[in-house]
Amino acid sequence: MTEKGRVLVIDDEADVLDILREFIAGRGYRVDTADSCEAARELAGRERYEIVLADRELPDGSGLDLIEEFQSSTPDVRSIVMTERSSMESTIAAMRPDVFDQIQKPFDLVKIGEMVDAAHDHIKMSRQDASVIERLESAYRRLEKDRAELDRKVIETNEELARVNDSLKRHVTRLKMLFQMGRDISSNENWSDALDRFLMALCRYLEAEGAALLLYSGGGAVLQIRTSYNMEIRFLETAVRLILDAQKRDTVPTEIFNLDSCHTPDIETCLAAMKPWNDSAIPLLYKGRWLGFLVIRKRYASKREYLGDYHFITTIQTILTEEVANAANISRLRNLKDFNETILESMHSGVLRTDREGRVIFANRRARELLGDVASGAVHIGDLFANTAGSGEFFDFLRGGAGGTMSIEADCTVPGGRTIPVSVNSTVVESDEFTGISLVIVFEDLTARKELEEELRRSDRLRSLGELSAGVAHEIRNPLTGIATTAQVLREKLGEDPERLKYIDVILEEIRRLDDIIRSMLHFGRPAAPRPMEVSMCDIVEEALMLVADSAAEAGVSLRFVSEVDRDMCLLDRDQIKQVVLNLAMNGVQACRSGGEVRVILRPGTDPALVRLDFEDSGCGIPAGASDRLYNPFFTTRSNGTGLGLSISRSIVEAHGGRISHESVEGRGATFHVDLPRLTVAVSAPEESRQAH
Ligand code: ADP
Repeated sequence: MTEKGRVLVIDDEADVLDILREFIAGRGYRVDTADSCEAARELAGRERYEIVLADRELPDGSGLDLIEEFQSSTPDVRSIVMTERSSMESTIAAMRPDVFDQIQKPFDLVKIGEMVDAAHDHIKMSRQDASVIERLESAYRRLEKDRAELDRKVIETNEELARVNDSLKRHVTRLKMLFQMGRDISSNENWSDALDRFLMALCRYLEAEGAALLLYSGGGAVLQIRTSYNMEIRFLETAVRLILDAQKRDTVPTEIFNLDSCHTPDIETCLAAMKPWNDSAIPLLYKGRWLGFLVIRKRYASKREYLGDYHFITTIQTILTEEVANAANISRLRNLKDFNETILESMHSGVLRTDREGRVIFANRRARELLGDVASGAVHIGDLFANTAGSGEFFDFLRGGAGGTMSIEADCTVPGGRTIPVSVNSTVVESDEFTGISLVIVFEDLTARKELEEELRRSDRLRSLGELSAGVAHEIRNPLTGIATTAQVLREKLGEDPERLKYIDVILEEIRRLDDIIRSMLHFGRPAAPRPMEVSMCDIVEEALMLVADSAAEAGVSLRFVSEVDRDMCLLDRDQIKQVVLNLAMNGVQACRSGGEVRVILRPGTDPALVRLDFEDSGCGIPAGASDRLYNPFFTTRSNGTGLGLSISRSIVEAHGGRISHESVEGRGATFHVDLPRLTVAVSAPEESRQAH
């Protein structure tokens, strides 16, 4: 039987000790006995007891004190107090924490046995508890350790995450910058600003000190500093020179190279760099064509440092190369566009472009001058032009031209509903898929040309008419001279008979009138070239008006001359201009009824080199429909008129380099304007016209 534990029984009665020893030992315990406190202390000094049974009162002291003593030296001892009697005192004593239980004498052995077993079980359970607690504590300690380890790992992981996050952020920022930069450079109208911003951003992201862009111009012949940020111009100028020198030697690498090594024969690429460097040159090569270099000032102490930026720099290289190439193309296109626009805008011909439906989508300056703002896409070409030569719809007609081109004359409707003659050259243009087939129309206003042609025809007609009339006049003059001489002789022969003389005088008067007409015809047919001399315009007008004065007075018409010029000296043919003044003033008088008025006004010209003579009358005015024919020779509405006055006046004025025009309101009067140059260039009169004169 295994020993359950050691028990010390303390009692002063030897019988009690024997009984208890035997009984308790019989339950499997090892039992010692002591009959006094002292003996008990001695035993306890040597042995370690789990259970102590002590009599409350011992000969050399209190059992309770002894228990207290044992308890303080061996805390897990279980003590049972044996008392003589039950009393309040003993009950209280048994409630002390160091007392496990108490029993009263004379005792029941079975109870004692149960108590001792209970004490033993209590100890066992306490021990078990302690071991569980210890295990728990150790598990807790391990847990704490693991938690601390976990915390450390979490912190470490967080730090790593923060680092990764930072680097991710940096990459995202760089990517954003690259994207932004690409967009900025390619979309920006002001490329210089975009480049400046790009260099600044690049330095910020690369943590570089400065940067610059060197670009080729002049078809690759000249390398220039396009823009720089935080770099000295002098340094860059030297760099440009060194690169150009190296280029002549054909030693410029296509890889990113160390700019500092440019003065050496072997330029060092950054990937092969052996020692630290400050300035890197990034070549910009587009389809084998050198566009320039991006220079970055950032000190790289080692190749390893450089590799950290390498991918970013090469991405920048790709983007910038594309953008510079694009910008160069765009600039070339822009120049071409400007050039084309300048040509189109300065052309004297109108240029229109239509869409595929025939609506006008472009009009150059001349076209806008003639047609107004028609390029809004709302005006159809058929509303502007009408085909004078062919028939059918104008747009379809032009598109049907052989080889896509067509040259015709057409009528063009200008604002206000007036039509003008135009020449039209059209070309069918096949544009991009959006515009499709469209038409480019170049047109020219033919009004002036038509007028000139008409004028040429008129002067041609007049010249033949003039030659004919001069010939006729010349032929008539000789027999007329004969008739006049004969009539004169007849007059002398007829004596003083007034009745007869009257008839002869009629003949002579009519001969004189005929002679006047012949002289006018001769003048009209072969006008004399003006022989300019310095004369006063006022003098000429006054002299001419004196000749009209009698007729005016006779007709009851007032004749006035006003000069509004400070200086009236001119260089012109005195007699011819006098003739013009005479003709126009006389016409005015003849147009007026009695009480009418003719005013001749000398005015400054529309241009300082001109003077103007106005003839205003309050007469009948020019009959409607006659206006166009006034200057035609022999056009007259007067019964005794020759119809040559205005025609001769016009040829004189035009021979002086001047112009004659008129305005009139029928029934209210007319005004004739004569514009003359102050200085008529001397022209030698042709011999024959002088003779004819
Ligand atoms: P003539 O005086 O011999 O008729 P002109 O050539 O001088 O020839 O004039 C031609 C015509 O022009 C005149 O017959 C007349 O009908 C018209 N005319 C000229 N001057 C005036 C005027 N001041 N007022 C109205 N009609 C005019």
